[in-house]
Amino acid sequence: MRPGLTVLAGPSGVGKGTVAALVAERYPVFLSVSATTRPPRPGEADGVNYLFMTRTQFEAAVRCGDMLEWAEYAGNLYGTPRAPVQDALAQGRSALLEIDLAGARQVRAALPEALQVFLMPPSWAELERRLAERGTETERQRATRLAAARAEVAAAGEFDVVLVNRDLETTVSELATVMGLD
Ligand code: 5GP
Repeated sequence: MRPGLTVLAGPSGVGKGTVAALVAERYPVFLSVSATTRPPRPGEADGVNYLFMTRTQFEAAVRCGDMLEWAEYAGNLYGTPRAPVQDALAQGRSALLEIDLAGARQVRAALPEALQVFLMPPSWAELERRLAERGTETERQRATRLAAARAEVAAAGEFDVVLVNRDLETTVSELATVMGLD
């Protein structure tokens, strides 16, 4: 068991959310709930998937130093509330952040001991397919996310570990292994 902070990054549509949720369900890991100014998708609940905030609320939280890291992604703000992560780590628990590349870089600068994991799609075509299949974005939003995804994939070499998400179960157990959970 290696308690500590792990960052899971990777392009939109790669399956980070699903992988992170399964690891947190099966292992004693605190999964951070991010704050965002993005409107909820159908089925998303406040306090479960995200803490949904207005831009004014979000900016006030940043000013107060309440965000461990934050970034603007595809026109919306996303950030990690600092206190719950600090509390989990202080209690000797492992904590997992599912965040974008800019956020991962901030964590690397502030907390270089954190394990940085990058989740890669099996292929570019597969990532495009998954984003389209999700059906939660307009064509224009998808194009923005695919452009961001190209920049994210190009930065994979910055990470301690790169996992290819070919098969969900395999990826979940690989992430648990690198986090020292099994
Ligand atoms: P989505 O809108 O698809 O839920 O998330 C868009 C992107 O924002 C994803 O790459 C996701 O990992 C990232 N993201 C989610 N929460 C956070 C956060 O707290 N901080 C940062 N920097 N990125 C986040």
